[in-house]
Amino acid sequence: MNIAFEGVAEPLGPAGDDSVRPFVVETLDVRGRAIQMGPALDAILARHDYPPPVSRLLAEAIVLAVLLGSSLKIEGRFTLQTETDGPVDMLVVDYRTTGAIRAYARFDRAKVADAEGAGAAAPGALLGRGTLAMTIDQGAHTSRYQGVVPLEGESLEEVAHTYFRQSEQIPTRVRLAVAEMHAREGGAVRHSWRAGGLLVQFLPDASERMRQPDLPGGDAPAGSDNAEFAEDDSWVEARALTGTVQDDELTDPALPVENLLFRLFNERGVRVFNAAGVRDQCSCSREKITAVLSNFTADEIAESIEADAISVTCEFCGTKYGFDPEAFKPADDPPPAA
Ligand SMILES: [Zn+2]
Repeated sequence: MNIAFEGVAEPLGPAGDDSVRPFVVETLDVRGRAIQMGPALDAILARHDYPPPVSRLLAEAIVLAVLLGSSLKIEGRFTLQTETDGPVDMLVVDYRTTGAIRAYARFDRAKVADAEGAGAAAPGALLGRGTLAMTIDQGAHTSRYQGVVPLEGESLEEVAHTYFRQSEQIPTRVRLAVAEMHAREGGAVRHSWRAGGLLVQFLPDASERMRQPDLPGGDAPAGSDNAEFAEDDSWVEARALTGTVQDDELTDPALPVENLLFRLFNERGVRVFNAAGVRDQCSCSREKITAVLSNFTADEIAESIEADAISVTCEFCGTKYGFDPEAFKPADDPPPAA
């Protein structure tokens, strides 16, 4: 098999579920990452118990965040967040370089049901229009990096392509797929979520080879030589190969990502590297929420009290924290705004 495993003494088996597998195809100047997500994804989605189209959309966002965040070479947090005007008006996924992921969606249940009934519950339609922001946070003493792209009713795959074209100028293809599994277990049927993703980027040493034709409606005047502009042959080939990947291949538990990469790139020689695991883990704590409440004004504290207590539920993991309002009585009301 023309597939080499790098950085390990022994040949590796399949990375398995919930592990990101980096790879390179040197003869095409392509590198990327692939993942199949199983138990970690299912735990997050099962806990939230959103309507299926919302779970599906959040699963895509989780896979995309893991594919992008796992490229960070330093410790920190990568956050992918959408803010849009559709039935699902916010998605938030946090990926920590330790492999911890957490995610939630905010949505209008009635609007999602209407969209489903009208057969308009595709991911892009549920999102509507707005923005997708990607933030890299490396801790208290470093500046944050944020990239924002418009989201106009497309799929998350398409938005990712736009982002890499506009912000990074790296020719990029992303594939995302989500599947619902039904397994028989002792007479009962167990439902679970799976997802898969593939990120392929063209990164030749000579940056002029990365030139991409202008987008329709871009700066180039109509009738310019854009139509005859030829992309680099290696990228054309890599993009075409990536385009042959079917959704069920990305999520098939019997088709490890290494086998998929071999199917795509074996004629060119693909090398894979050590995989990095991801897991379902929130980072909320009583201390962090106490710190947030401590900054509330007297009015905000008063508004938060219900039945003589303040109850805070973590949007990500559903953990409920209860507080005694007496602990947050500010000494004085803040001075009125000038
Ligand atoms: Zn939490």
